[in-house]
Amino acid sequence: MKNRLLCVLFAGVVATILETSAATARIADIYPDFYKDDCQRHIARIVCLVDPVEKVLSRSDLLSRPCLPEGRAYVQEMQEIYSLLPDPVNRAMCGLNRIFIEKKFWASGYAHQRTHSIGIQQQLFEEKQTLSTWLTWKERLSFQSPGTDNSGIDLPTIRAEAPGAAGRATYYIVAHELAHLIDLANRISDIRQGDFSRLSWTVRRRYLRNLTLPSDWERPCFYFCRGSKIEAARLPEIYQALQKSAYINLYATRNPSEDFAETLTFYLLTQVPEFRYELSLGDQIITRMNSFWQPKRLQEKLSYVDLLLKRPYLRLRPDGPPVRPVN
Ligand SMILES: [Zn+2]
Repeated sequence: MKNRLLCVLFAGVVATILETSAATARIADIYPDFYKDDCQRHIARIVCLVDPVEKVLSRSDLLSRPCLPEGRAYVQEMQEIYSLLPDPVNRAMCGLNRIFIEKKFWASGYAHQRTHSIGIQQQLFEEKQTLSTWLTWKERLSFQSPGTDNSGIDLPTIRAEAPGAAGRATYYIVAHELAHLIDLANRISDIRQGDFSRLSWTVRRRYLRNLTLPSDWERPCFYFCRGSKIEAARLPEIYQALQKSAYINLYATRNPSEDFAETLTFYLLTQVPEFRYELSLGDQIITRMNSFWQPKRLQEKLSYVDLLLKRPYLRLRPDGPPVRPVN
């Protein structure tokens, strides 16, 4: 009887060991080399400078582009970004199949779910764009140039400073695109299922509506605007409404998916020691970093992201297993 009991116990221990090693092997396959602590080497392998494709036809069209040898020049910057990202966002970066550096691309970056890749425009590296320059450029895309309406109102200027790689535009773009992939793998911003989107979005008469902005809020356009840019004269009114809303910034008001990506990116930036942020219109400072999470609804989003990153069942890629944060 005693021997039988020992056998059962032994079999149980062996089964547990086998199960644990199988799970480890599976996770190691999907998040390459994480357990060997060489994500940095994995990142060096996946950074890939590419010529543009005219039209993306399939997964293989995107992935089969040859990596140009000059692409090695961008590895170090990507490795620095990886080392600054907290867990589990760093693991999401480690699980990517490719980080494309696009010789030509119409936007600053993209996330591609089917290939589980992200892409960043090469020019941003070449111009060594800082967070301040790039965020200011992006923020101004929605507005007509001052002078066209004689309002005399300056376009917004953003001062965003952080030490090292976190102070570069590329850090922001990597964080934003990883946020999109985490979102897609977990359906966070899905208006029908995502609990994040319920914090500030709704669907009325089949149209997506912002919940915490005035009803006449005109959704800003950033790319391919064709004359639909907002008059500079409306800038004070727009930022006033934004400050009372649950959106972290103007870009977040576009749709639930951008809302989540921007919220997570700002959450990560606010974790960087010495991060400074200020948005101003002329001499008037509109937003400072310490006022980011003040509105009640923004606090809800902050708590949401905080808890999300600790979820034991958070997926870092659609085909991946749920992972537990290391700490
Ligand atoms: Zn985006």
